Amino acid sequence: MRIAERMRDVVGEAAFAVLARANELERQGRSIVHLEIGEPDFDTPEPIVEAAVRELRGGATHYSPSAGIPELRTAIAAELGRTFGADVHPDRVVVAPGAKLLLFSSILALVDPGDEVLIPDPAFPAYEAAIRIAGGTPVPVPLAESNEFRLNVADLEARITPKTRLAIINSPENPTGGVLTLGDLQAVADLAVENDFYVLSDEIYSEIYYDERPASMLQIPEIQDRLILVHGFSKTYAMTGWRLGFAVLPGQLVDAVVLMINTSVSCTSTFTQKAATAAFSAETRSAVERMVSEFRRRRDTIVDGLNSIPGVRCLRPKGAFYVFPNVQELGATSEEIAVGLLEEAGVSALPGTAFGKNGAGYLRFSFANSLSNIEEAVERIRNHVAALPVGKPGL
Ligand code: PLP
Repeated sequence: MRIAERMRDVVGEAAFAVLARANELERQGRSIVHLEIGEPDFDTPEPIVEAAVRELRGGATHYSPSAGIPELRTAIAAELGRTFGADVHPDRVVVAPGAKLLLFSSILALVDPGDEVLIPDPAFPAYEAAIRIAGGTPVPVPLAESNEFRLNVADLEARITPKTRLAIINSPENPTGGVLTLGDLQAVADLAVENDFYVLSDEIYSEIYYDERPASMLQIPEIQDRLILVHGFSKTYAMTGWRLGFAVLPGQLVDAVVLMINTSVSCTSTFTQKAATAAFSAETRSAVERMVSEFRRRRDTIVDGLNSIPGVRCLRPKGAFYVFPNVQELGATSEEIAVGLLEEAGVSALPGTAFGKNGAGYLRFSFANSLSNIEEAVERIRNHVAALPVGKPGL
């Protein structure tokens, strides 16, 4: 069968493939600690679930506008405005079944064949996939452990050409947990204005942070007419399976992205949107705070545990729920180590290379799992690593 050329170099998220293999091993009776998939293990806060049940019973089971229901667009605009001191008009807010569809639609709406798009390396793989489907050229900007995986704006600047159409940034970052400062964002915004490109700022982990609140591109007025802000309910409210994301877009792009939603999925599920309007309450906020403080304990446990294993070095991430330890001293590739951990030690992780070439020598663990499972995983990793033929020639 002839599959269209545009799909040739497209790579999907490795997390789903590794999860499938881990589940298969479990069906064979193996014990697996799941540290591969990027989703909170918490339940969606009760007020949102209650609202969804109420809305279903109340008949919110029909199509809704392609851009999202006005109540939710207004609530999102108000929440973002409150949080970042920004002036966000509800007309700029578009709701879709998942942030991923908004990434995809915005990239398809902006990028023509031949256009270049700057992306962090390592990064969430859906960026590169969408750019390739659009016929654009991804231009990786390496992130360095020595810079706490914070994008170095000079490295981004060095890769700007007349073909640069868009730069994608992600803070807090998947897979590294790196966080950009307001100064970094301002510098990227200045470059975008000077060089006439757009900025897609994926801020889906903005509420999952362990020091001060990460800065947002919404705080920079000059960039608003070239900013695609991508966000969603998946991570903050433990709603990955609900499929609910949103974006704040410049006016003309709103029409193009809504057209894309209209022609692909028509609209977002109506009762989930109605339920999500219950997300911005004091009760829900305190549920999110409890989840994040639990993540902080788990982060410290996994970071300290990994750093106590000879040959493994792990930074303490400032945001999101991933660690990206350096395993270069173990004498094997990231892929070999990830496969060995899953098949032999029963710990499911992702190789850093699932996020870009520059992820070589690293692994990604999600710490969205219980403290006891994380402790168990660390012991399994310690025993597995101890048995590796470290530094063996040829490896
Ligand atoms: N952006 C980043 C950086 C992510 O890590 C993810 C999910 O893993 C998404 C976007 C997708 O979120 P959603 O579940 O809303 O599609």
